[in-house]
Amino acid sequence: MTSIKQNIAEVIHQITLATEKCGRAADSVQLLAVSKTKPVEAIEEAIAAGQYAFGENYVQEGVDKVNHFSTHSAKNLLVWHFIGPIQSNKTRLVAEHFDWVHSIDRVKTAKRLSDQRPANMAPLQVLLQVNSNDEETKSGVSLAELPALAAEIAAMPNIELRGLMSIPQPATDFDSQFATFKTLSDALEQLKTTYPQVDTLSMGMSDDMEAAIAAGSTIVRIGTAIFGARDYSQKA
Ligand SMILES: *Cc1c(COP(=O)(O)O)cnc(C)c1O
Repeated sequence: MTSIKQNIAEVIHQITLATEKCGRAADSVQLLAVSKTKPVEAIEEAIAAGQYAFGENYVQEGVDKVNHFSTHSAKNLLVWHFIGPIQSNKTRLVAEHFDWVHSIDRVKTAKRLSDQRPANMAPLQVLLQVNSNDEETKSGVSLAELPALAAEIAAMPNIELRGLMSIPQPATDFDSQFATFKTLSDALEQLKTTYPQVDTLSMGMSDDMEAAIAAGSTIVRIGTAIFGARDYSQKA
């Protein structure tokens, strides 16, 4: 079995290769290690390997981990991203513990996060989740609704609009992956013209990372390739 440290090195190698292929700087893409369902020992190992950005999907589990590492020697380097769906009754915990939220798709959630963000913390950095495949069932705002949502959220005092996030439907060929991601990056460019602080595109996972990077991704979200397969049997 390979170690978490080796896995991280391998993923970073793949990111570097993907950036070289499309002529981007290697450091223009950040690795977000998705640690959901994984124990603090696994995160500890990743931190020891120099990985400091972590993504969590479940509020209570994520909060427990943020608290656990709040006394760690690397605590000032750690950046916690919330990437899962947020129920209204959980916004306070997210606002009080996380640095970033990738999964904003409605005004109501954003307003609660802004209202509940403690005054002594930096503004919560937020991404709007876009439903790029326009399916009925998945979360995310449509491209048509995006400008109106961005306008409301950009005006909120304690959160900062930084960009877009997407979880496209799985596609196996590069060209269709790329086409979907390109739609997102075009939408980001459009947003930038109104909101100069916007600079972040969270898109690309293990199977579509190369296409996402070619299309302009700045954060790739990788879980299994770093930490191994997840066991959901303990989850409610
Ligand atoms: C779980 C998850 C990931 C990571 O998925 P892997 O297949 O384990 O790499 C990335 N993004 C989101 C939003 C996730 O929920």
